[in-house]
Amino acid sequence: MSNLVERDQQHIWHPLTQHKLKKEMLPIKKASGVWLTDDAGKKYIDGISSWYTAVYGHCNEYITEKVAAQMKNLDQVVFSGFTHEPAIKLSEALVEILPEGQQKIFFNDNGSTATEIGIKMALQYHYNQQNDRKIMLAFEEGFHGDTFGAMSVSDLSVYNGAFQDHFIAVKRIPVPNGENTEEILKRIEEIHRETPLAGFIYEPLVQGAAAMKMHDAKGLNEILKLCKQHDIVLVADEVMTGFGKTGKNFASYYIETKPDIVCMSKALTAGLLPMGATSCTQKIFDAFYDEDIAKGLFHGHTYTANPLACSAALAGVELLTSEEMQENIKRIEASHLAFQEKVKTHKLVKNTRCVGTIFALDLAVENDRYGNLRDKIYNFFMNHGVYLRPLGNTIYIACPYVITTEELYRIYEVILLLLENINDI
Ligand SMILES: *Cc1c(COP(=O)(O)O)cnc(C)c1O
Repeated sequence: MSNLVERDQQHIWHPLTQHKLKKEMLPIKKASGVWLTDDAGKKYIDGISSWYTAVYGHCNEYITEKVAAQMKNLDQVVFSGFTHEPAIKLSEALVEILPEGQQKIFFNDNGSTATEIGIKMALQYHYNQQNDRKIMLAFEEGFHGDTFGAMSVSDLSVYNGAFQDHFIAVKRIPVPNGENTEEILKRIEEIHRETPLAGFIYEPLVQGAAAMKMHDAKGLNEILKLCKQHDIVLVADEVMTGFGKTGKNFASYYIETKPDIVCMSKALTAGLLPMGATSCTQKIFDAFYDEDIAKGLFHGHTYTANPLACSAALAGVELLTSEEMQENIKRIEASHLAFQEKVKTHKLVKNTRCVGTIFALDLAVENDRYGNLRDKIYNFFMNHGVYLRPLGNTIYIACPYVITTEELYRIYEVILLLLENINDI
């Protein structure tokens, strides 16, 4: 056991971890491009872009140089009363690529705060207008983060029993699967008649934490359209899907009805620094714009719009919109689709799905979300130099856009190897 592993155990409490069951963490020493290197020098392809963040590759020099330059100039300043160019430039760049109608950017720290603020905007939008609407609508199996509001609307917060009594009020609907749209629309009408809804928070098209569960875009559009008719604020949680993952800049581009609010984080800062952002339309902003101070959004984080994070994000958007990156995204999707054709008839594969740079397959074997086989599969991939984090039965890829075809094929190869050897691992 390396010295770092022991020292880690002395003082560190890791996220999403039962320490009695998981004692040793793997020290990672270096990250470059798609490669992670551990302290023993073993290399792994980062097949999930470190939780969908480092999409332009780790330590991308274009980004690190911009941030280094920014660092020498302005590191941090209070964003209430002050402003700065990195935030202004980023707001302009984001509005340029966001779904139509997004007008104002509220900066924050991470994905959970991005959704938390989206929820608060939806609730206060109605509160400011004296509408009696205190309930949020959300999807079954959604995931929106780990702070209280975000936890409340998440359906996947399975181990959050200790907090459930303190959740905000939420009603839940199934995701549209192409066959249940009418039913869902009826359900929304019913709920809204009984207890008027303030907002609807949804992961457009792909539910990441639900193991890359994908929706019927048409059905989702019908749901959004109905909500819009009732002035139920549409909060698109694009924390995972944003910045090219689905093949378009945002998943909301696949859906005709546009959101009122968009939550961003993860790839926003290209894996370099933590930051979130919540954007909204002029209409939402206007509901807070008043001579009455109390009608403002009294929410703020100390590091809001940190100039370094803003410059990382700005460099990220520049890369995303470059021809080269857009070509990369298309190339990855084409490779995924070809791999899907190859693997979908395998007897151990129950289901496959793909959109943009995201590929997922469900294994036709029994496996708990946090079960034993899942750990064995994880270890199999790591032993073969590929970092993937299976979710229960699901193996998914969300690779950095800079991955070479050869590196991507290596991931596929290891997945195929797993399928051949699943009974012996
Ligand atoms: C990861 C994630 C969040 C939470 O973001 P954190 O930065 O981990 O707090 C919220 N929504 C979605 C869809 C996510 O994938």
